[in-house]
Amino acid sequence: MKWYRKLHWQILTALVVGILFGILAVTFGWSGFAKNWISPFGTVFINLLKFVAVPLVLTSLIIGVASLSDLKRLSSMGGKTIGIYLGTTAVAITIGLLVVNVIKPGKQVPQSMRDQLMADYRGEADTRSSAAETVKQRGPLEPFIEAVPDNFFGAAADNRNMLQMVFAAILIGVAVIQVPREKTKPFIDVVDALMDIVIRLVELIMLAAPIGVFALITDAITTLARDNPGQVFDLLRGLGVYFLAVVAGLLLHVIVVYSGMVRFFTPFKLRRYIAAVGPAQLLAFSTSSSGATLPVTMEQCKRKLGVSEEAASFVLPLGATINMDGTALYQAVAAVFIAQTYSMDLNLAQQLTIVTTALLASIGTAAVPGAGIVMLVIILQAVEVPAEGIALILGVDRPLDMLRTAVNVTGDTVVTSVVARSEGQLNPPADAFA
Ligand code: ASP
Repeated sequence: MKWYRKLHWQILTALVVGILFGILAVTFGWSGFAKNWISPFGTVFINLLKFVAVPLVLTSLIIGVASLSDLKRLSSMGGKTIGIYLGTTAVAITIGLLVVNVIKPGKQVPQSMRDQLMADYRGEADTRSSAAETVKQRGPLEPFIEAVPDNFFGAAADNRNMLQMVFAAILIGVAVIQVPREKTKPFIDVVDALMDIVIRLVELIMLAAPIGVFALITDAITTLARDNPGQVFDLLRGLGVYFLAVVAGLLLHVIVVYSGMVRFFTPFKLRRYIAAVGPAQLLAFSTSSSGATLPVTMEQCKRKLGVSEEAASFVLPLGATINMDGTALYQAVAAVFIAQTYSMDLNLAQQLTIVTTALLASIGTAAVPGAGIVMLVIILQAVEVPAEGIALILGVDRPLDMLRTAVNVTGDTVVTSVVARSEGQLNPPADAFA
């Protein structure tokens, strides 16, 4: 196949063109044009992806569970999945803490820069803090209550209720197994046909991916620069080292943990693996939302890596909601960075508190743009660092959100491949090793 027909190259090209166009737009003052005439294409593209997410999870999980001969497999897969998700997230936080303690980016921010950032972003920081306050009022078992829907259509009506959808689909699938086959056959046939239709829809939507990605990246750049390219340089002057610390942590996690897991626990060569999940990573980067990327993550894992229907439709939606290694790592770096700018030295006990709260916070972070920084407020409060400190990092949060979301999605695919393989649920297509 010619290289330019491959999806990941098309998306990558769109990304580069979007970056170049975004820089031109900021330089020549076309940001208004870009907002009115280009950004909407990005929004439409994300809406389309969200549109297929619930039907895709529902149909493929019902079919996956209904085709199980043995329900024990579901619980063994569930145990492994949650264990590995939590384990990799804890490692990610530790890497983040190591990096930020070695680089000490907070010591490099000049006082004048700090005051200016605090003044510029105070309003936005207050909005995020009050959002965090609402989250904090919830009891410890609230996430458990929230995972169980009280109304099927209520659960299906909001993409943020993905865990409810997973729960409903498993419940329906289990009931289907227990009703005689001759009765359930028509139902299974309908759901099966629906699933094929939704998969075709995902393929059709992905034809528009290059346009969507171009629009999203242009929008991200013009929003970041706010029509004033000088502002980006100012931000980088103050926050460049912090930015690099997060990027270094994310890279370390991907190179050491994920590459190691792919190499030792899956049959894939790294290059083939990246080509297979590349479209999902690029889309995560462009949309900053693991939730919106989910349909593509599922399709790539099934078609290119050969993950079974059952494993992909169970492990991936769960991952999109609770497994956020990139977010957790970023939260650890950001919390210590803010403490450093306040000249607060966090002791070992406080750093351990960051590990536990960041683990819980990343689980509770919604799979949407900018959710990570809201949960960061809760971590800051746990270690008694002033929450208004998030004003310092808001200016560069969007590009970091893009990067951490790409890492979140990569983590989901790696754990899915490992769990699927260990459960005999991985049948790679012949070209997966080419
Ligand atoms: N945007 C991230 C995601 O969807 C969450 C975050 O803000 O860290 O995975």
